Amino acid sequence: MQDIENEALAVLKKFYGYSSFYPMQYEVIEHVVTGHDAVVLMPTGGGKSLCYQLPALLMPGCAIIVSPLLALMKDQVDALIANGIPAAAINSQQSEQQNRDIIDNVFRQNIKLLYISPERLLAHMDEWSHDMLINMIAIDEAHCISHWGHDFRPEYSQLSLVRERFPGVPILALTATADRLTRIDIKEQLNIPHAKIFINSFDRPNISLNVVSGLSGRSKLKRIVNFIEKHRHQSGIIYCLSRKTTETLATSLQSLGIDAQAFHAGLPTDQKLRVQQAFINDDLQVICATIAFGMGIDKSNVRWIIHNNMPKNIESYYQEIGRAGRDGMKADTLMFYSFGDVKTLMSFANNSGQAMINVEKLNRMQQYAEASVCRRRILLSYFNERYDHDCGNCDVCNNPPDKIDGTTLCQMALSAMARTHEAVGFMTLIDILRGSRKSEIIAKGYDQLKTYGVGHDLTQAMWNAYLLQMLQLGLIYIAYEEDGHLKSTSLGREVLYGKRKIELSRFYYNQPDKKTAKSVPLPMGNEQDIDELLLSKLKDTRRALAKAQGIPPYMVFSDKVLAIMAQEKPVTKAQFGTLYGVGEHKTNLYWPQFTAVIKRHLNEAANR
Ligand code: ADP
Ligand code: ZN
Repeated sequence: MQDIENEALAVLKKFYGYSSFYPMQYEVIEHVVTGHDAVVLMPTGGGKSLCYQLPALLMPGCAIIVSPLLALMKDQVDALIANGIPAAAINSQQSEQQNRDIIDNVFRQNIKLLYISPERLLAHMDEWSHDMLINMIAIDEAHCISHWGHDFRPEYSQLSLVRERFPGVPILALTATADRLTRIDIKEQLNIPHAKIFINSFDRPNISLNVVSGLSGRSKLKRIVNFIEKHRHQSGIIYCLSRKTTETLATSLQSLGIDAQAFHAGLPTDQKLRVQQAFINDDLQVICATIAFGMGIDKSNVRWIIHNNMPKNIESYYQEIGRAGRDGMKADTLMFYSFGDVKTLMSFANNSGQAMINVEKLNRMQQYAEASVCRRRILLSYFNERYDHDCGNCDVCNNPPDKIDGTTLCQMALSAMARTHEAVGFMTLIDILRGSRKSEIIAKGYDQLKTYGVGHDLTQAMWNAYLLQMLQLGLIYIAYEEDGHLKSTSLGREVLYGKRKIELSRFYYNQPDKKTAKSVPLPMGNEQDIDELLLSKLKDTRRALAKAQGIPPYMVFSDKVLAIMAQEKPVTKAQFGTLYGVGEHKTNLYWPQFTAVIKRHLNEAANR
């Protein structure tokens, strides 16, 4: 095992220039290299790609990566090649001859990673399973296989055959969005019952969370402009609900001198490509987009996200804000919320195939928007993650509401849940707590419970609000597969048994006016010491090199690597090669240009 680890670290340094793994990456790599199946749940930016790229490099043969999105495949392949790793994609945009050449190269073991769509894999599976040295099959965006997920794709459902056709080849399923049910479903649907599930924290502490409600028209636009002015020269995306809004908003912003363009599925293909390319290449600052945008891009230096409207569920919201700050540097998000949005989304949900689930998910989204507890706690407990403190990087934390000691209240509710064997939902629980004489309550004998009526001095609305907070704080969760019954989490049990106190936000019939929240800059270390002038010169160099090679600037080096370079100021090839994020291939390619800029800068500074 020590051997695998040393070799993995050597490969990591050589090709990627990193000297350590992110949490859980190595565990996954070792598991796969030793021949086992795995399901990996990591947030966007958590480093999923390395979980399959490293095993592919460590084992003889070629890894197959199933991916649903063409653009994403291209991006990944380009990034691999930029690091000196032989990779290719098979897709319908290339000629059949090109695709055949690629397959030949895989047969000749000239390719380490082959990206492919699920349809194509299924079509080729029989011939390949016999004759090719396939060392692993990774299934990216694995939540697409589940009906519970928000992004079900029928072409994924047949991937259950992969296990049968490639016996003994480890299968690695990866996703950034998986609630408890989706997670179970992935294993079942892929036919990998023994796969180990690796769950990384979904927390993205570098992303600030802010919600503003009730603004519309001019005042909303003013707020957006103000936000963009605070993020001068920084790339960002504004998500809108309709195509029309993306266009009107982009036009309004342009008229105010902001570098913005619209992007939606209804635009001509060449225009879409142009806008997307300009954004990726840092030639366009702001994109006003429908959710069609962002799926296929890996741009690591998106510094902010605005939601012009509330998204339809928490999964989408989290995925969309997750497109910011992938490089780990500070990023800001702002979501606008209005009852108008809820109305529109509610009619979409009601008319969708799975109305019940979708309405429920929308309700959870709305509760997030109206929350009076730390927003990160809500998000993480939604993904069934234990997170027992306030984050300090959301608007609620920065502008906290009045708190009360809610321990006894929570214990009443948790105890009533336990005494009904966790077989009741919200409304029944409130009826029990308030001592309702409803016939269903009496018929079930709930009036005989010890907790019946213990909460009678709180109104129904108050119980509603406090139970909602318990949900948001991660003390309870809703088992959708059991008629929406409430269940206690491990945190909830600690409160019930008196091992932990809980603060709740005081309930008001009319919320007192809150001051508008200021976002407090998050200290991200080092950023102060960076030589800003040098950094902007390095960015220019990065841009020129990217243009010359026809790849996006972030693929040459991420913002984080440039920030470190501006700080460390390497002037020799050897110094350059040891920098974070600079592998062998990129050292050879880029050291002369960057070190020349640094040397000149140091000379100019000395002569000033
Ligand atoms: P995901 O696919 O989970 O969204 P990526 O695989 O794209 O995440 O990784 C996000 C960013 O983190 C990329 O820029 C990647 O190069 C970087 N990264 C991944 N693993 C490491 C590591 N061990 N050390 C430093 N940076 C890493
Ligand atoms: Zn918070």
